[in-house]
Amino acid sequence: MQQKDGCCYLCVRLREDYGLKPIEEHHVSFGSANRALSERFGLKVYLCPEHHRTGKESAHLNHAIARQLQQDAQKRFQECYPGLSFLEVFGINYIDPAEEEEETAHSDAFSIEQGFKFI
Ligand SMILES: [Zn+2]
Ligand SMILES: [Zn+2]
Repeated sequence: MQQKDGCCYLCVRLREDYGLKPIEEHHVSFGSANRALSERFGLKVYLCPEHHRTGKESAHLNHAIARQLQQDAQKRFQECYPGLSFLEVFGINYIDPAEEEEETAHSDAFSIEQGFKFI
């Protein structure tokens, strides 16, 4: 695994900490039934080791954090593929319509595009 320094997506999202740290690639997947599709439309984020694997708020240990990343990935997917339905492609929807409205109200504060990259 390649190691490099950069911004951690969750440090920025949760604490507005733009500091550079060693970061690792995390692939956001959407359920084991969709593994092939997840790989085809794979979305990855860079996370510090604490937010990736080791901390209480890590993508691999904290269900709420994992869900947050899935929701962000869904939003990113919808922005990049406006002609496709996330629900139709993956058979699942992570975004509650009420939450989506609340998010748009705060959309100036944080830009998902900065964190997610298609692979
Ligand atoms: Zn972090
Ligand atoms: Zn990971």
